[in-house]
This record gives sequence, C-alpha cells and structure tokens, in this order.
Amino acid sequence: MNASTSHDTRWLDNAILRIEADYQRSADTHLIPLRLPAFAAAGIDLYLKDESTHPTGSLKHRLARSLFLYALCNGWIREGTTIVEASSGSTAVSEAYFARLLGLPFIAVMPRSTSPEKVTQIEFHGGSCHFVERADQVYDEARALAERTGGHYMDQFTYAERATDWRGNNNIGESIFQQMARERHPVPAWIVVGAGTGGTSATIGRYARYRRHQTQVCVPDPEGSVFADYYASGDAALTAPGSRIEGIGRPRVEPSFIRELVDRMIVVPNIDSVAAMRALSALLGRKVGPSTGTNFVGMLALAQEMRDSGRQGSILSLLCDSGERYLPSYHDADWVRQNFGDVSEAQRRIDAAIAA
Ligand SMILES: *Cc1c(COP(=O)(O)O)cnc(C)c1O
Repeated sequence: MNASTSHDTRWLDNAILRIEADYQRSADTHLIPLRLPAFAAAGIDLYLKDESTHPTGSLKHRLARSLFLYALCNGWIREGTTIVEASSGSTAVSEAYFARLLGLPFIAVMPRSTSPEKVTQIEFHGGSCHFVERADQVYDEARALAERTGGHYMDQFTYAERATDWRGNNNIGESIFQQMARERHPVPAWIVVGAGTGGTSATIGRYARYRRHQTQVCVPDPEGSVFADYYASGDAALTAPGSRIEGIGRPRVEPSFIRELVDRMIVVPNIDSVAAMRALSALLGRKVGPSTGTNFVGMLALAQEMRDSGRQGSILSLLCDSGERYLPSYHDADWVRQNFGDVSEAQRRIDAAIAA
C-alpha cells in the first residue's frame, strides 16, 4: 500500500466515524398524537412524526446522512471533494451540515423561488447557493457544475430510495412501528407521505412489507406535480409544470419514486394544502410547513373514508419541517392571496372536516 492510499483510507475511516459519532449524539424524533375528538370517538387515531426536530430542521437530515455514507463507502467522495446537489432547499440545508462536518466544500443548485430562509441556513452551514430559473433546470446545472469543479453530484433524486437501509437500521419505518407499539391501534392502517425524491415513501413501503404489516402507503401529490399522472399511467417519460408546494411534487418522474410501493395517491389543490397547513398549525400551537399541510389533507380524507365505512385504526404522517422557514411566504396572508388566490372556502372545508 503506498503512502497516498493509506492517507486516503485514513481520511475515509475518519469521515465515516464523524458521521456515525454525530448520529450517536442524536435522539429520535417524537411521535405526536393529534387531538381530534370527532375521529377518536369513531376509533380513528391520527399521529405525526415530528421530523422538524432534526439538527437541520427537516426529514432531509436522515436522507443527507444516508447519501453521504453511501457516497463515501462507494468511493465517490474523498478528501477535498466538492459536493454539488440539485435541491428545492431542505436537502441542501442538511447536506451543507454534513459537508461541513467532513470539511468539504458544498454547492446547492436551486430554483430562484426557494425560500430565503433556506438559503440563509445553507450559508450558515458554510455552503454556497447557485440559482436557476426553473425547477426542471436544477439537474443539468448541478451535473455540469460538478464536472467543472471536479466535484461529486450527490443526485438525491436518483439515490434517495437506495441509500437508506430499508430493512431497518433505525430507518424512519422501523422507528415509526416501534414508537406505535403501545397505542390502541399499533399498526397504522395508513401512512401518508408526500413525495419529493420519493425516498421516504419507498423506505416506509418496503419496510412495512418486509415486516409483513398490513399498513398501506398513501402519497398526497400537489397539483402541478407529475407523480399522480405517472402513478396512473406508468409512463416515466411524462413531465408536468411542477409543484408550488416546496419539498414535494416534481416536474419529472424521479428515479427514486417507486410507484409499486405506493398503494394510493390523492391529488391535492394548493389552496387545500395551505388551508390544512394553517389548521394544523392552530391545532398544534406551532407553525408547520406547507408539505405537512398536504399530508394533513391526505390524512383527513382517509380518516373520513374510514369513519364512513365503519373501519377503526390509526393514520400516521410526518411533520416534514417547521413553518418558521415559510413565514414570509406560505404563512403570509398577502403572499398566499397573490400566489394561490382566495383560501377561505378551502379553510371552511378543512375546519369542517376536523370538527365533524
Ligand atoms: C423532501 C421533502 C419531502 C418529501 O420527502 P422525500 O423523501 O424526498 O419524498 C416532504 N417535505 C419536505 C419539506 C421535504 O423537504
């Protein structure tokens, strides 16, 4: 073994150790029971797993850790490698954190519309931001930037579904079923998760099948996303305008979205997502992000359906990130009116669904 090789090996060993030590210092995220008396009386319990409490504020903390370990063990990242990623923001925040942990430069390629708060956080973690005009331009730009810098394009949209250990190893699926163990309906009838990369729905779907649970996976898809049409047709060449709900819904069929692992899709209008985001924020006493609103729309639809058919059970979803990231946008009444129009009718519908 020559000197440079043993130096590379030492760097790699140390990089993996740093990520594992960071994990060792971390706690699992809480599972929050929602207080919805009307559904509880019908034997239906709703839960949210609070993924906003990771050190980088979203479920993408899990993904970023997995992507770094996967790329390190594959030999794709070495000392000094510039990490480049295409993102709508949350993944870039989490990857900037891990890049700094390893002393690596990080560049996020994102649509210009990305929340300024996410840009601030990427820069806070030592990363830099590179903007494109449209969401469908992030992929080519990230790949080209990685080539120009001699860096590594992380490519979450391809690798999310395979970088996570789907059989367990404390993945989100294993954690969910453990945390539900003492509830009155410990095996959820439904787990509801929006799809950005599709990695979370794939991991949960695989894990549930592997453990032979009866749980079904429902993906609520925001209007403008391609996933619902792809789910119906199976045509991976489809494209769409793209989503207006940050973090979920895509303009192209992402390789990590595994259609066969999804039992049901529900198309969610943007105003419903915003109205549900507000209603849920009021219910919890703290603000949630818009993709969590989309999840809540899906949960309420399934809960109503279960009640109507006399079925009891639990429904679980994710609090993907906190609303603090979206105070000047989705949580600002003027911004919402300008971007989505009048939400009041949707608000009445969601409030009625919660109360009924
Ligand atoms: C990425 C993301 C999702 C969707 O998760 P995937 O595993 O990528 O499908 C949902 N909400 C937010 C805020 C996200 O950043």
